[in-house]
Order: sequence, then C-alpha cells, then structure tokens
Amino acid sequence: MLYSKSFINTSREDPKVAECKSHKLLLKANFLYMVSSGIYSYLPLGWRVLNKINKVIKKQMVLAGAQELLMSAIQPIDIWKKTGRDKDLEEVMFKFKDRKSRELCLGPTHEEEITEIVKRYATSYKQLPFILYQIQTKFRDEPRPRFGLMRSSEFIMKDAYSFSLTQQCLEDNYQKMYKTYEKIFDKFRLNYFISEADPGAMGGSASHEFMVPAEIGEDILYFCPGCNNYYKEKGRCASCQGETEAKKMVEVGHIFQLGTKYSMAQEAFVLDQQGKRKPLIMGCYGIGVSRVLSAVAETASDSRGLVWPKSIAPFDASLLVLESGWNQEALELESWLEKEGFSLLIDDRKEPAGVKFNDAYLIGHPYIMIIGKNYRGSAKIEVEKRETGQKFEIAKDKIVDFLKDEHNTESN
Ligand SMILES: [Zn+2]
Repeated sequence: MLYSKSFINTSREDPKVAECKSHKLLLKANFLYMVSSGIYSYLPLGWRVLNKINKVIKKQMVLAGAQELLMSAIQPIDIWKKTGRDKDLEEVMFKFKDRKSRELCLGPTHEEEITEIVKRYATSYKQLPFILYQIQTKFRDEPRPRFGLMRSSEFIMKDAYSFSLTQQCLEDNYQKMYKTYEKIFDKFRLNYFISEADPGAMGGSASHEFMVPAEIGEDILYFCPGCNNYYKEKGRCASCQGETEAKKMVEVGHIFQLGTKYSMAQEAFVLDQQGKRKPLIMGCYGIGVSRVLSAVAETASDSRGLVWPKSIAPFDASLLVLESGWNQEALELESWLEKEGFSLLIDDRKEPAGVKFNDAYLIGHPYIMIIGKNYRGSAKIEVEKRETGQKFEIAKDKIVDFLKDEHNTESN
C-alpha cells in the first residue's frame, strides 16, 4: 500500500475531545473517527486492526471446535420478556417500534436469541454438546459513554454459547474456553489477570473475568508488586505477606457458567438417553473485541505513539522511502513480502523525513524500514524494531528471512 494513495490522515495536534491515552492516540493516528459521543467509525487503519483481532479469535475458536454464526442485531422484545431481562436491562436497551407496532430492540447481548435458535433445532442429547459463536455489534444506551471504545454505545463483541446435557460437560466446555481465552489474550500481548467474578445480571454459578491493569479501568483489584499477584480483597499478599496496592482494571473478557437460567425460562429442552426432557445447560463466553483494540492501545504505547504487537498491527512494517527514485524498488519489495504473508505500508509521500518518521512511530508499525542514502551502494535496508528501538541493517534479499525469524522467535 502506498501512503500517498491511502486514506490515512494523521494529525499533528492532540485531539481536544480525547479522554485518555488510547482515545488520544487512536484519534490522532487516524484509526477512529468520532461520530458523536460514544459512537465511532473505524477508519482503514482501525478496521485492519479489528480484522486481525478477529482473525486471532476465530483461529482459536475453531481449534476449540466452536462454529461461527451471525445473529440479528434487531431483536423482538418478546424473547426478552421470557427471561425478565427486558426489565433488568431496560435502562441500557435501545428500544423502538416498527411500522407494525412490533416492539423491538437493538441487541445489547444475545443469550435469549441464541436460546430461541437452539431450541428450534436441538431436540436430542445426541446433538450435544456444541459451541456457537459470533462477532457482532452490540448496542447499549450508556449513561456515561467515555474513554473512546472502552465504554461506548455501540461496540463489537465476540460472544460464544455452549450447550450441554450435564453439569460436567458444561464444566469441560468452560475449561476449554478458559484455556482458549488464555491463548487469545497471550497473542494480543496483553498483561492480563484472571479473576473470579460475580455472574450478576447474566445469572448462573461460576464466572471469571479477564482483566488488564490500566489507569482508565473501572474495576479495582489489589496487586502485590513483589509477586505480581492480584487479589479481589485488600489483604496482605498470600505469598509474601507484603502490602498490596489498589490497581484499576479493564475487563476485556468474561466467561459464565449460565446453567439452566435461559433454557428453563425459554423452554429449551432435549430428550436424554432415557427419553426424559432435560433443560439445556449453557455457558457463555464474551470478548470485547473493540475494547481489546483500546486496551492494547492504552497499555502498549510510548511518548511517540502506538506500539502494536505483531499479531494485530495494521501493517507488519512501514517502509520509508527517503530518497527519490526508489519507489519501483519499494513496490517490488512489497509484492515479495506479500507473497510471504507480510503487509507493508510504503511511505512514498513528498514529505520531509521527520514527518515520515513521526507518522511511522505514531501509527506504531512493529518494524520501520528505511531506504535512504546508504541503499544505493549497499542494497541494505535499515530496520528499526518499534518495541525495543533496536536497529538492524539487512540486505534487501534477506528481509523476508529477517521477518520470519522475528515472528518465529515471538511464536516460541
Ligand atoms: Zn507478594
């Protein structure tokens, strides 16, 4: 991709509306467009990151045996009345009537709808267990939307639902999702902590939250700096007896053992081995996809801008062409890298080197490559690793090997 032809419009100024670091950087580096308070459009850079986040999630969900579907964003209020959650979530639901006076809402979550779908088709224990998931936009009428994508009226979630005949089978699925979530959050390079949680309005028994320490967090956990342990209650550290300190945390994932709350209320039964009617035993598993984008931006950045992990960076590298006459060479390098699965943003703009460096740091490409004045004699490309600032000189025909080695090192 040539920068000169791209729709990337970074700003030199800090946006006045920014409420926190990630909000500022995502607006300034042109990942997001603020439509209105709590409502955002994803611009090309932001959309590339979201798609990479989704790719990581989908890969692990498929490995866990889950099947993807896409439910409707508009839901009839009738299905919410069955569980009583039309009242529980009344305050945050966007409700409206269509021309036939049907009462509808924009889905704030999908437990009711998935239960309606599954009960229509699952009638026997032989069809169980299974896990269904979707990546979908959800809507909540937030009283105080803030911190950009952290608390917005419209946000993207991955929500998965497991259906089992027995509690043991639910627990097996729950464990499988727990481990899947660890793999997913590891890929995002998030410094997360898993905390036992209160199931709250979702109902059910066990529940765990995946939390990331960040100044803008709305939950508090207690942290031992010596042992890196987190606790729900203030009390000395169980390992070293040292003082713990309060830390604000952002929830990026939440898993629940729902049990039979929804299947009983919505009459979702299957026949067991003895031909007896049994309610489906459910679990649900959420990841705040757009919130992950913000959480990574909030925690992985420095004074110069964003620092994306390789797994979700909008481009694998930026190539700054600092001498004229090398654009064709740059395009050849791009097509070669693309064949090997690496994406490149070629900064071919007629701008001073300082502007190109500033934008490359601000956008946060994992590698910044430079074709400068040394290239003519040596055919060597200067490479800077964004995260560590390490610099390398790599012969042009060794660039793919270099990137592959770097990616392998990280995967291991
Ligand atoms: Zn300790």
